[in-house]
Amino acid sequence: MGSIKDYFSGLGKGVTSLVKGLQVTGKEFVTPKITEKYPDNREDMHIAQRFRATLQFIYDNEGNHKCIACGTCERNCPNGTISIETKMVDTWDGKKKKKLDRYTYDLGSCTFCQLCVQTCPTNALEFSNDFEQAVFTRSKLVKQLNYLPEKPEPKPTPEQIAKFEAEKQAKLEAAKAAAAKKAAAAEAPATIELDEKAKKALAAAEATGDPEKIAKVRAALEKAAKLKAAQAPAAPAAIELDEKAKKALAAAEATGDPEKIAKVKAALEKAAKLKAEKGNA
Ligand code: SF4
Ligand code: SF4
Repeated sequence: MGSIKDYFSGLGKGVTSLVKGLQVTGKEFVTPKITEKYPDNREDMHIAQRFRATLQFIYDNEGNHKCIACGTCERNCPNGTISIETKMVDTWDGKKKKKLDRYTYDLGSCTFCQLCVQTCPTNALEFSNDFEQAVFTRSKLVKQLNYLPEKPEPKPTPEQIAKFEAEKQAKLEAAKAAAAKKAAAAEAPATIELDEKAKKALAAAEATGDPEKIAKVRAALEKAAKLKAAQAPAAPAAIELDEKAKKALAAAEATGDPEKIAKVKAALEKAAKLKAEKGNA
């Protein structure tokens, strides 16, 4: 009894499955066909605008591209698909300018990630949706994107020339002023400080009212002061006393005896100096 039941159950399942399959077949039978007649329909074939087929430069109507050879796309390309060669050219204002020499793109290694397009600061790149890129050798997939002849550098406008001349003149004048300032500083005599005795001698000479005598006395006094300053020994380096020495000096100072204080101070400073010299050795 059980086997008859199983038989009809299996038969029902088979018929259901057959009907389902025929439903799909029937649906496809009446659906309009969209078979592409490629390559006969090349002219009116629909390719999605966002399809990434190959990288290219965006050229304007005059054949100019916007690449400034910054190298951002080359650095951002994850697999070294882009290679940029640059050159330096002289501009009309005497400066050097980096220019694109050769922009090479290898379609064979491109992953179409579009990082190059997105990071280009001048929007010089785009992906073409021209899908027919099949070639017989891999070397043909390596393309030079700046294939149009190089345009000469644009001529400067009168405003640019005027601005350039004004800047040049301003720079020249600034350099002249700086040179004059430097020369004046070199020529200016160093101020010489006269001591009290010399000041008195100068005042006495000025009291005579004789300009020749005043100038003579001033020159002599300044010369003497200069010599004295040159011969003066350098100030001794301050000697730092440690805590123990400071206490000993304070004890000597507490006695109020100037001779004893000077003696103790000299001895302590000598000891500190010796200690410092040993430390440096
Ligand atoms: S294409 Fe754009 S990112 Fe690449 S070098 Fe040129 S300006 Fe720079
Ligand atoms: S799309 Fe990606 S892989 Fe292709 S050149 Fe640009 S950055 Fe490189």
